[in-house]
Amino acid sequence: MTTSVLTKTDMQPAADETTENTRDLVNALRGRVRGDVRFDGYTRMLYSTDASLYQIQPVGVVIPKRAEDVQATVEIAARYGVPVLPRGGGSSLAGQTVGAAIVIDFSKYMNDVINVDPAAKLTTVQPGINFAKLNAQVAHHGLMIGPDPASANRATIGGSIGNNATGSHSILYGMMADNVRDVRVVLSDASTAHFGPIDPNQLAALGKSDSLEGRIYAELPKIVHGVTEQILERWPKHWRRASGYNLDRLAAALLPPNERSKLSFDSRFRPPVADPMLIDKFNLAQIITGSEGTLGVMTEATVTLTKRPKMTGLAAVHFDKLIDSCVAIVDILETNPSASELLDKQVMDLARAQRIWAEKLHFVDGDPEAILLTEYYGETEEEVSKKLDHLIDTLRKRGWKGTIRKVLKKSEQADIWEVRKAGLNLLMSRRGDYKPVAGIEDVSVPQEKLADYLGDILDFCGKQDDIPNVAVYAHASAGCLHVRPLLNVKSARGVELLEAVGQHAANLAVKYGGAMSGEHGAGLARSALNPTIFGADLYTALQEVKRAFDPNNLMNPGKVVDAPPVTESLRMGPTYQTIELQTVFDWGQDGGYAPAIEMCNGAGVCRKLNSGTMCPSFMATREEKDSTRGRANALRNALAGRIPQDELFSPEMYDVMDLCLGCKACKTECPSAVDMAKIKAEYLVHYYREHGLPLFNRMMGLLPTINEMLYKTAAPLIPLVNAGMNSGLGKAFTKRMGIHPNRSLPAYAKETFEKWFLKNPSYQKANAPHGTVILFHDTWANYNEPHIAQAITKVLSAAGYHVQLASGRKCCGRPLITGGQADQARPWIDHNVALLAPLAEQGIPIVGIEPSCILTLRDEYLNLASDTEQAKKLAAGTFTFEEFVVNESESGRFTPAWKPNAGKALLHGHCHHKAMVGNDSTVAALAIAGYQVEVIQSGCCGMAGDFGFTEDHYEVSRTIGEERLFPAVRAADAQTVIVASGTSCRHQIGDFTERHPIHLAEALGLAVEE
Ligand SMILES: Cc1cc2nc3c(=O)[nH]c(=O)nc-3n(C[C@H](O)[C@H](O)[C@H](O)COP(=O)(O)OP(=O)(O)OC[C@H]3O[C@@H](n4cnc5c(N)ncnc54)[C@H](O)[C@@H]3O)c2cc1C
Ligand code: SF4
Ligand code: SF4
Repeated sequence: MTTSVLTKTDMQPAADETTENTRDLVNALRGRVRGDVRFDGYTRMLYSTDASLYQIQPVGVVIPKRAEDVQATVEIAARYGVPVLPRGGGSSLAGQTVGAAIVIDFSKYMNDVINVDPAAKLTTVQPGINFAKLNAQVAHHGLMIGPDPASANRATIGGSIGNNATGSHSILYGMMADNVRDVRVVLSDASTAHFGPIDPNQLAALGKSDSLEGRIYAELPKIVHGVTEQILERWPKHWRRASGYNLDRLAAALLPPNERSKLSFDSRFRPPVADPMLIDKFNLAQIITGSEGTLGVMTEATVTLTKRPKMTGLAAVHFDKLIDSCVAIVDILETNPSASELLDKQVMDLARAQRIWAEKLHFVDGDPEAILLTEYYGETEEEVSKKLDHLIDTLRKRGWKGTIRKVLKKSEQADIWEVRKAGLNLLMSRRGDYKPVAGIEDVSVPQEKLADYLGDILDFCGKQDDIPNVAVYAHASAGCLHVRPLLNVKSARGVELLEAVGQHAANLAVKYGGAMSGEHGAGLARSALNPTIFGADLYTALQEVKRAFDPNNLMNPGKVVDAPPVTESLRMGPTYQTIELQTVFDWGQDGGYAPAIEMCNGAGVCRKLNSGTMCPSFMATREEKDSTRGRANALRNALAGRIPQDELFSPEMYDVMDLCLGCKACKTECPSAVDMAKIKAEYLVHYYREHGLPLFNRMMGLLPTINEMLYKTAAPLIPLVNAGMNSGLGKAFTKRMGIHPNRSLPAYAKETFEKWFLKNPSYQKANAPHGTVILFHDTWANYNEPHIAQAITKVLSAAGYHVQLASGRKCCGRPLITGGQADQARPWIDHNVALLAPLAEQGIPIVGIEPSCILTLRDEYLNLASDTEQAKKLAAGTFTFEEFVVNESESGRFTPAWKPNAGKALLHGHCHHKAMVGNDSTVAALAIAGYQVEVIQSGCCGMAGDFGFTEDHYEVSRTIGEERLFPAVRAADAQTVIVASGTSCRHQIGDFTERHPIHLAEALGLAVEE
């Protein structure tokens, strides 16, 4: 084990400061900053990584609420000689947001739109706003922001300006530098400045001031003039560049127009310049853009907006050979597409292996090595269609013979873009130590040189001894292909190769007139290669820029210039080792518990807001700690000894895990398929072994047994028990167990479902035409909601099935698994497997009622059962009710008589069902019964089993529900049936709205003719 670098309370001193000094620093910050000041070990650990290969503990974290907080932080940090490091979503791939500095996180509070000027197509925003939120707020003007990084659902505008980010449509909208009009910054001496377009007179006047701002205005033109010739000759000739500071843009403003033609602004296939002012005027906002937080900290930015396209169409242009796609890109660009993105075979193969992505691959014909997803804009579908035909015509005339699929349907186009944007994460979903690493993934060359560059770099990688494969994807239309060699950086050879491949790629970039980064920035991964890219004179000029802005090197030092070697500070280098736990779950598929956690690459999809389900706790709190990434980082650091080993089961670590609702959304929505619900279930077993099981968990685990005893020995007392549970005394008892007093408790039914079933033999038609169905009547259905199990029985019977109970079954084990007693669940699991697997093997379907119960048989049983083979057989024969209805209906067997006009149904899908099956089968089942179905675009309901019942989770639980679900339920008209198949979802909706949802079976029961 390596030694600890922090304890839970320590305040790691920066540079030469003493601990006492650090405490003074913290106190000084707390005295001035209205936002959060956090220097505890956990926070620093959570902010020690981003989406890169690197890891460095920050000194502390400030989460500002206003510009004054930022200014105070920079001022106090400067006084103590501590660097600062601004951060947005922390989705950078090159390590630019990790460093031994005070991290200033803008994403939590400083994320508003300040002003929108639709006529001028400009908006002023706080830096922490993400693209999705900004676009939603300007959509009603028919506007959007042009650059569209694939990470836009969590990337912030500030971070994207910091990186000079862009995306698939850069050939239309350019990079952030083409869209940033002006910025307000806090400079390194804590003075503030407003950088925007200025004319030569203003420039001269501003340069006379004795302030830092004045000195910068005086110095920068001198630096540019000093290297004008080199800029004209040696500067990368390609416009798609996020390396270095944007000296070429300042040169463009200072040079006479006829000289500018030598700059990349006039290169072939350059995006049209939307705002000439950004080229014609001297504007230091252009130098801040792409500076990666090394020159100043932005507190506000004004960016241009663009018209949303009315109509789009896509062509999936197939190639048998990857390299051909890069040759063909020039032909494609001549047809003026809005984008042309490359998808290679590896991404397609990985997508095929995951259900939710495989469904979206409808545009792939056969097994091509590459597809160029080529898009056109237009005013009408006809216009777009003609453009697609023109593309096909052009390519055929030039001899390209592969399949070209025309896609005009909006939903299919959306699927295609989703697959494309998940490309990197899909690549990262590869299990094992060889990963498609970032490093050379962002080299960008003029499009005419793309095939040459790709050929050379693939050739070089192919000759190395330990690079089994290379993945290639992304922005072919901009000459910026993401090339990712598979490397094992946990080995010394892998690290050597990381460096060697990087240096070779940099040489090739220079040879072909390109840059090391086309959008992701330099960070720790590429800054050390800037001397190669720019040559000695220009690199010296870049260093002079840094010194002019930041004479004491306190703004995100070590990035862009004066960088450490690319092999320093690796998150998982050759010395990386983890401790082994004696696990309860079988983690063999992932290579172990630690490797399952290491699957988190930090890309931060779990920080998206208002869409999908992952991650409900982050959506509620906006805290890094409460994201899937935060949890994975915390556990990984403890397992790897980056924090003391005993921290693994400390209360602080528990706190990091606590708000995970176990919704399983990350299992599907995290493109690396990080299964935090399972990781947490394993974690809790070990945590409670050390700390003892809380009363609440003990009671939840015992509930199936208590219920059984209750009905066996005291059934007549059930009404009294129900009244008692909600009485003052009952509430006092449940409060002691940790249940929030506002929570209603599920009442017991007068009669169990099992008893009702025995009393109603008419449903057990042994000679039913469609055979037997085993109903897995879960604990809730048996004791609390027998009417739902009755509804299923009636519907199945009406449709001609013989219903048989899973008699003798034990509880599925769900409450034990989520409650930290997965080890205790094994006897029940083994019992159920032994009971039901032989029936499943005979082809008798086992159908569930509560999604989370029945899906436990399909999911956790595979990793917990003693007999894995039998568990697999059981899983294969187990279905949710909706799956069964749809499957049987498709094979023509499920055809009960339906009443006319079932009416409208508003559906909220259960998280586990969405994660493992999707909503489609529930929608289809309702449609079969004649309902007009609308799906609520909700995430988790917030209840998640027993999560939302407890006092400490109540508020988070409510916030999660209020995010999208409750407003949609409240807005539904009274005639609309609200359908939610999850017990906890129905309970949650019932507790916080006036509506009482029903199970799918009840909805079908209402619609079927008796
Ligand atoms: C899966 C994946 C796909 C990606 N796809 C793309 C893509 O298509 N195109 C693309 O360009 N990038 C892409 N990226 C990289 C990255 O997500 C983007 O560059 C993104 O725009 C960064 O935004 P962020 O808010 O996460 O910034 P951060 O990573 O938090 O910060 C980026 C830089 O900006 C600086 N910064 C942040 N806030 C400020 C501020 N207020 N003042 C000064 N400097 C500041 C930081 O110090 C840092 O140097 C991708 C990343 C991932 C993981
Ligand atoms: S948990 Fe998944 S989505 Fe979140 S950062 Fe890690 S890999 Fe990305
Ligand atoms: S299981 Fe749900 S709550 Fe837990 S980390 Fe995954 S998405 Fe977040």
